[in-house]
Amino acid sequence: MELTIGWLYPTLMSTYGDRGNVICLQRRCQWRGIGVKILPLDRETEADRLETVDVIVGGGAQDRQQEIVMRDLKGAKVERLRQKIEQGTPGVFTCGSPQLLGHYYEPALGEKIEGLGILDLVSKHPGFNARRCIGNVVFEITASPLAAELSAMLGEKPVVIGFENHGGRTYLNSTAPLGRVIQGYGNNGQDKTEGAFYRHAIATYSHGPLLPKNPFIADWLIQTALREKYQQEISLTKLDDTLARSAREALFKRLELTTAAKSA
Ligand code: GLN
Repeated sequence: MELTIGWLYPTLMSTYGDRGNVICLQRRCQWRGIGVKILPLDRETEADRLETVDVIVGGGAQDRQQEIVMRDLKGAKVERLRQKIEQGTPGVFTCGSPQLLGHYYEPALGEKIEGLGILDLVSKHPGFNARRCIGNVVFEITASPLAAELSAMLGEKPVVIGFENHGGRTYLNSTAPLGRVIQGYGNNGQDKTEGAFYRHAIATYSHGPLLPKNPFIADWLIQTALREKYQQEISLTKLDDTLARSAREALFKRLELTTAAKSA
C-alpha cells in the first residue's frame, strides 16, 4: 500500500509550523510499512498532478502569502482541488488554508481575497489594531460522523489541543463546525465554534502542529485515505503514543483543564 500526501504551497503556506502535519502523516505511515510520497502542490504544479493525491495538507500563512496563493489557485487547478474534496479525499487545512476554502477572506489591509467557495463560510480580519487570536486552544470535536468515528477509535470524547495564531475571524454559514471551543478563541472568539468539517476535509485554526499533538486525527486521515483509495476497510496497527499522551496530559495540567472541564 502507498499514499501520496499533497502539500499545498509549502513555500508560501508554512509560516506557523504546519509542515509538522506532513511529517506526522509521513512517519505514521512509514512506521506501519505503508509507502508514502510527498507531492508539493505549488505554483508550478500542473492541475493533473492533483489526481494522484490521496490526502491533502494545507498550512497557515500571512495575509500577503494568501493573496499570492489565490492568484495561482485558478482554472483547472482549483477545479481539481474542488473535485478531490467533493469526492471525499481527506485533508487537514489549517488557518489560512480554510480561510481560502471559504467564500472570501477580508485581510487587515488590501482587497478582499476571493476564496474557492468549497466551504460555506467567510473570514474577516477586524484590522491591525484588533487583538490577534493567539494562544493555546482546546476543543472537542463535535462534527458528524467524525466525532463518532474518533470516539470509537479513542474510547472517549475526541478533545483536541493546539495553538492558534490568527487575526482573521471565521463565520460559518451552512458548513458544520469541526468542534466546540473549551479554551481559546476558535473561529471568532464569540460563537464558541472551532473550524469546519465537510466531506472528509478537516478545517481548523489549530496549529501546534495539530497532528503530532493529536495523533488520533492523523490516524483517521490515513485510514480514510486508504479506504477511499483501496475501497476497503484497512485497520491500522496500533503505534506506541505514550510520548504524545504524556505531552497532552502535561499540557492539560498546565492549562488546568480537568477531565470534567474537557468533557463538560
Ligand atoms: N493571515 C491569516 C490571519 O491572520 C491566517 C493566519 C494563519 O494562517 N495562522 O488570520
